[in-house]
Amino acid sequence: MLNLLPASDKRKQFELYALGLRDFAGVNGEQPLDPFALAEFAKLLVVDFDQIDGLSPEARQHLLGEGADQWSGGACSRPLPNGWKLVILNPAHGPQRNRATLMEEVAHVFLGHKPNRLAIISDDSIATKRAANKNKDSAKQTLARDYNHDDEEAAYAVGAAALIPYSALRRFVRAGRRADQIARHFRVSRQLVEYRIKVTHLWQEYKGASTTRR
Ligand SMILES: [Zn+2]
Repeated sequence: MLNLLPASDKRKQFELYALGLRDFAGVNGEQPLDPFALAEFAKLLVVDFDQIDGLSPEARQHLLGEGADQWSGGACSRPLPNGWKLVILNPAHGPQRNRATLMEEVAHVFLGHKPNRLAIISDDSIATKRAANKNKDSAKQTLARDYNHDDEEAAYAVGAAALIPYSALRRFVRAGRRADQIARHFRVSRQLVEYRIKVTHLWQEYKGASTTRR
């Protein structure tokens, strides 16, 4: 079946990349995509938050409690000896948001993005600092990726489009499905579905369908 594309040039481009990723993962049409399967091809090793060494109980508590809203996860820029890169996902965000975060990391790899700056996550504070801090003992620090704005936008958008492809989304919207129902189908958050409905200019139709719904 022909895959429809969103109207704007930018979204078309993102959608084509996303469809390429879905193709590669062997899913089509309305099938949900499993980013964990794609992560392997991107040589991303997803590690459990609890497996991270060197985090103090205070840091752990902060990252999962008060500070849980301030990070979603990410990849370490320094590869392991076997070429794989570690990805850590925020367990406080739940599996749906984790899928979007991981998909973004996968998209960065497939789009060939290179980090333009280095951010430093120190062992004891996890405070992110710019790489200029030369006086610190670098062995105790982990380098985290930092991409430029355009790359961040593209990776997020392509990841979201791979999880919620336009063709299927439009069909669901026209069939009068609610965002939370669509979200359940694709195993993503309702917020991600609403974001996709908006950026692909389906919001009017979605709202229109909601008045005739049920
Ligand atoms: Zn990113």
